[in-house]
Amino acid sequence: MSQTDTTALLASIVNLVKTELAPLASAIDQEGVYPADFLHQLGALGGFSAAIPKEYGGVELGLDTQIDIITAVGRECGSTAFLTWCQSTCAWYLLHSPNETVKQRYLPLVAQGKLLSGTGMSNTVKHLAGIEKIHLTATREGKDYMVSGSLPWVSNIGNDHLAIVAASVGEEGYIMFAVRGDSEGLALNPCPEFSGLEGTQTLNMRFRNVRVSADDVLARPDQFKAFISRIKPGFVLGQSGIGFGIIEGSLKTIRESNITTAHVNIYLDEQETDLATRLDTLRKEVSSLAPQAENGTARILDILRARANGSEATLAAAQSALLHAGAKGYLMRHPAQRRLREAVFVAIVTPALKHLRKEIHDLEQHSNMEAA
Ligand SMILES: Cc1cc2nc3c(=O)[nH]c(=O)nc-3n(C[C@H](O)[C@H](O)[C@H](O)COP(=O)(O)OP(=O)(O)OC[C@H]3O[C@@H](n4cnc5c(N)ncnc54)[C@H](O)[C@@H]3O)c2cc1C
Repeated sequence: MSQTDTTALLASIVNLVKTELAPLASAIDQEGVYPADFLHQLGALGGFSAAIPKEYGGVELGLDTQIDIITAVGRECGSTAFLTWCQSTCAWYLLHSPNETVKQRYLPLVAQGKLLSGTGMSNTVKHLAGIEKIHLTATREGKDYMVSGSLPWVSNIGNDHLAIVAASVGEEGYIMFAVRGDSEGLALNPCPEFSGLEGTQTLNMRFRNVRVSADDVLARPDQFKAFISRIKPGFVLGQSGIGFGIIEGSLKTIRESNITTAHVNIYLDEQETDLATRLDTLRKEVSSLAPQAENGTARILDILRARANGSEATLAAAQSALLHAGAKGYLMRHPAQRRLREAVFVAIVTPALKHLRKEIHDLEQHSNMEAA
């Protein structure tokens, strides 16, 4: 991996974001435009495959660079930064799958954005953290599985997309698998209107006896526990990029507002320098954790804390930007009000801030009990 390669890739992505995505940001937010063309172009540049080796069609520049890419997208559009995370995270799941067939089948296509893919793992991650019941159940039929149940909201999916989800297999445990949107027995239905993120093609997935072949299974019950532990740090850490992009966009609004109204903005609690320092500290922390997530040595507690700190900083920055911009920032055409809604999404998408605090609390209690 070379610094020159990373700089060149990021420069080309920043350029694409400015020319192709920035002009669409309002329509994505207010008309629910799903930026499929942009996603394909981003994929062709390597925008989903920084953490993927070249042998699987990736650009092999590391997870930290993938987070920088998500940040670059999020500076202009938090909703599309989330889609960038969805797609690159599906590639991350496939990369770490112990099943070589599923990896060969989908990883190069997903990594290059030729096949768009959603991650419907929220329910499972919450279930494993003791927050809710698992929604999908599978029964074995020979080497295949038959899956039923529903997931209320999964983004970046469609009839010609892939989705990666998990189901319980009774006493055996869980499986994680890939499923095509047009599979027999699978219905994709619209969700009620959201107050933001409308351009993410977020749909309800209803499974009625959907056959999943063994070749589409990322982890069988006997592999599942180790697999989830392997993918979770990168899954959670990658989301930091969405928040960082929103913070950078908010800092821009604060700087612009201060050109004319600094004399009164100085009375606000969160000033540009405070937020910029907070972002810098968080960015460095995430940069040091990213290689650990890649080589499988990250401590989950450090990852969860970094993600929670990122959510809090994103909320603070987006709120401060709107307060700096004043009534102008409250206009529908101003990005400050959009970013505030995007920032709230960062704090409610799984793992939500309350979920992170629960997991952190549970892990701290556990280590206190061990120490006692
Ligand atoms: C725009 C948008 C896009 C999204 N995209 C995706 C996506 O791509 N993939 C994905 O997987 N998810 C996605 N989600 C879902 C998201 O990640 C969260 O999981 C979802 O918002 C619900 O989380 P929550 O924190 O609101 O749930 P919570 O408020 O934590 O609810 C927890 C659960 O507790 C249950 N419950 C209620 N009362 C009790 C009780 N007394 N005892 C036990 N349980 C109880 C509830 O039924 C609920 O299931 C998306 C959501 C939105 C809004």
